[in-house]
Amino acid sequence: ERSLQSFLKDVAEEFPEKVAIHFLGKKLTYKELYEQSLKLANYLSGLGVSKGDRVAIMLPNCPQAVIGYYGVLLAGGIVVQTNPLYTERELEYQLNDSGAEVIVSLDILYPRVSKVKALTKLRHVIVTGIKDYLPFPKNLLYPFVQKKEYGIVVKVEHSGDNHLFTEIMNRTAAKQLNVEVNPKEDLALLQYTGGTTGFPKGVMLTHHNLVSNTEMCVKWMYNCKRAEEVVLGVLPFFHVYGMTTVMNLSVMQAFEMVLVPKFDATTMLKLIQKYKPTLFPGAPTIYIALLNHPDIEKYDLSSIDSCISGSAPLPVEVQEQFEKVTGGKLVEGYGLTESSPVTHANFLWGERVSGSVGLPWPNTDAAILSMETGERAEVGEIGEIAVKGPQVMKGYWNKPEETEAILKDGWLLTGDLGYMDDRGYFYVVDRKKDMIIASGFNIYPREIEEVLYEHPKVQEVVVAGIPDPYRGETVKAYIVKKAGTEMTEDELDQYARKHLAAYKVPKIYEFRDELPKTAVGKILRRSLVEEEKERIA
Ligand code: ATP
Repeated sequence: ERSLQSFLKDVAEEFPEKVAIHFLGKKLTYKELYEQSLKLANYLSGLGVSKGDRVAIMLPNCPQAVIGYYGVLLAGGIVVQTNPLYTERELEYQLNDSGAEVIVSLDILYPRVSKVKALTKLRHVIVTGIKDYLPFPKNLLYPFVQKKEYGIVVKVEHSGDNHLFTEIMNRTAAKQLNVEVNPKEDLALLQYTGGTTGFPKGVMLTHHNLVSNTEMCVKWMYNCKRAEEVVLGVLPFFHVYGMTTVMNLSVMQAFEMVLVPKFDATTMLKLIQKYKPTLFPGAPTIYIALLNHPDIEKYDLSSIDSCISGSAPLPVEVQEQFEKVTGGKLVEGYGLTESSPVTHANFLWGERVSGSVGLPWPNTDAAILSMETGERAEVGEIGEIAVKGPQVMKGYWNKPEETEAILKDGWLLTGDLGYMDDRGYFYVVDRKKDMIIASGFNIYPREIEEVLYEHPKVQEVVVAGIPDPYRGETVKAYIVKKAGTEMTEDELDQYARKHLAAYKVPKIYEFRDELPKTAVGKILRRSLVEEEKERIA
């Protein structure tokens, strides 16, 4: 049993000169990454951070995000990942709930952080400058920086409760720290859930949880070669998906990470051409945006071997097209924050079944529980997906009731509906909460989305159940058209009628320029429903 940070130490000894990070044309080796993480850890210890203390990290993907994460772990602390998009209110809630006394953030976010400081237990603010450590072009900061903050230049002094990252790197020794960790008991991370349903909950993930899930990623790749892969790091590390499948996997295996602070299709294509990544964990909307780039054919994407798509259903069309342009494999996986996150995927080396999230990962049990009885469902029957394995969380931070409601005898009730086929492949149908009930019929938005995605003029689509005085709920589709195409509601409606039973056909269509998304590119279905509810009220 090992702690997460022990992997960084080992890799730094085994491959000191190997590049760990590429960022905006600069490089950081594993030796440098370890040393700088140690410096931060020593500095944090000096500030009083000791075992079990929570330290917040509020950074987009950049070297400091990796140094911050491992620095906190080396000091024995618990990382609290904070989304740089959080508003003051969300930040205040999370800092209070986690009890973090130290935060590592960007100078440009300093005004937001300092405003909530007095309302929380926060004592120390470590800021890393967008100019000092590694130049960080401002255009990459948007949208992390809110409009009103954009353009404000903040000069933070290294004194009192404010600490500058560069000063820490200049003045601190990289002394070895050997904090004892009990991997099965001790937390490495408090990862807050999206909070689309009530206030966010802090998911307690132990070292054992995260190490196990990262080791499973290695098995998933099968022929992954230590110190030989280059990973495209566009999924944010402040979300558990990018943290495990990009950052922790790379550190465990001495892979090179190409860090992308913000998704932009043109930048991504250029980075792929330049760094020739072999592994590219992503989400459907990321692959869709690349495929729709007008110049995609001008770029050589043939280095890409292995892609895993998670967080939302992967349209089969997108999977096939992306495999065609790269010549690599794109497989679908599934997971959630509460399970570190991955529990299922199609293996890169096995047979992959399109439309399925694949098989449970090694050491992971999975079951479908009948919606009526709660017992194991029949093959092919839709029920709630439950999972059990070493990656399943310890519980929710300070929320015993919520923990009890979702963790039963080690089984995690995912809140997702799905079924299993006779070979053991799993299929996600939809979230329990997103199922639409219109005039008593159960309708799964995903099925409708799949059909509309096949329409040649549709770039992105999301289907939601919106309140309806007669039917209870009614089906509405939000669509982003492909650039340069014209399309009418009628055209889509006729298409939908041809491919769907009448009760599933959307009653309302709305065309939009873009759809609201989460940090990992998941379309925010529920925020559209909220919008609709507000409009009606
Ligand atoms: P919250 O739970 O707070 O609302 P969230 O949905 O962003 O936020 P995550 O833990 O990031 O929480 O996402 C996990 C969810 O993503 C799963 O429960 C599932 O609904 C969905 N998901 C993940 N992978 C897939 C997939 N391949 N197909 C369909 N849905 C998926």
